[in-house]
Amino acid sequence: MSPGFVARATLRCDNPGDDSLSLVAGPVVAAVTAEVVPRPRDGARLLEGAPMAAEIRGRISDEVSSFSNRHGFRPTLAVVLIGADAPSAVYLQQIVRTCERTGVTGRVVEIGERVTTALIQRRIDELNRDPLVSGIIVQMPLPRQIPLRAVIEAIDPRKDIDGLHPGNAGLLTLGYEGFLPATAQATVEIVKRSGYRLQGLDATVIGRSNVVGRPVSLLLQREHCTVTMCHRQTRDLSAHVARADLLVVAAGSPGLVTGAMLKPGALVVDVGINVVGDRIVGDVDFESALPVVEAITPVPGGVGPLTNAILLEHLLAAAHAQHDEAGAGRTGRDEPDSGDQTGEGGPPAVPSAPGADPSASG
Ligand code: ADP
Repeated sequence: MSPGFVARATLRCDNPGDDSLSLVAGPVVAAVTAEVVPRPRDGARLLEGAPMAAEIRGRISDEVSSFSNRHGFRPTLAVVLIGADAPSAVYLQQIVRTCERTGVTGRVVEIGERVTTALIQRRIDELNRDPLVSGIIVQMPLPRQIPLRAVIEAIDPRKDIDGLHPGNAGLLTLGYEGFLPATAQATVEIVKRSGYRLQGLDATVIGRSNVVGRPVSLLLQREHCTVTMCHRQTRDLSAHVARADLLVVAAGSPGLVTGAMLKPGALVVDVGINVVGDRIVGDVDFESALPVVEAITPVPGGVGPLTNAILLEHLLAAAHAQHDEAGAGRTGRDEPDSGDQTGEGGPPAVPSAPGADPSASG
């Protein structure tokens, strides 16, 4: 009998409100129906980011209008592009399109490949001082000769809407409110918004980058998961994958995880974006995973669209904090969030994340 068959036999959740199912199934399906999350014929749920992103974008459009009525300008997102990188260019197109859809001004600041760190810092400082620019992101990866730290430390933390500045990373580590890396936030939110409860799950995260793996592990700890971090030096990756109720893969390695490795009924969030021939694929072998899992994000179409929408949420939060006295508290940079990392039931410190409550959004 294949693991997939076992997964479907034990996990089909006909009564989503029944907590006792968690004893058998691991992840608890809460008040979610197949109408909300698409379920293909063979059983697994597809966790698609696009519908969630559309809902967020609608709200952002309204907020942008009222912000511009009040302040006489639309917030600008500055995207700093250093050098030329194919995946970056694809991502750039997507984020510019998301800006256009919501009425935010997207400004691409291209800096050629043969540049000095000092020049990049000067350009970022101009953006820091530009009152129309509310948020700044820098496209990764940087050219080899440019030290990442020098670039991210040049960004004003109040405009660091992708949460990479050490100031924001430190706030995340300590459980205080600050800007979160958008991809990491999307990784957690796509599961919560689909109605799954994270508390108590065994979560395995593959990858420990500052952009994805590390912040994801911290956010999952806030959600009261028991988190295992895997990386290139991990001795027995399969063993850690096999016991994961929730698996997050952000390794940049196509096919790293196959269905045979997965715990039946697992929740899988694939953050990998790999260009293989003319296709974009994740780090998880989607076809073999599908019959085994309870739910999985497709690539493309999973975490990516939600990430962009969340980034614009952060932009609005930054704009309010910078220009709106009433909104100054929205990033609450000096206040600890109400639930510390060891507390029970405290909300995640997500700046301006209305709608993040899965019960509100389904
Ligand atoms: P991203 O920006 O998507 O997080 P990075 O390239 O910065 O990607 O980081 C990749 C991470 O994935 C690293 O922490 C690395 O240790 C991990 N990783 C890469 N390949 C493997 C592998 N085969 N097994 C386990 N971890 C891996």
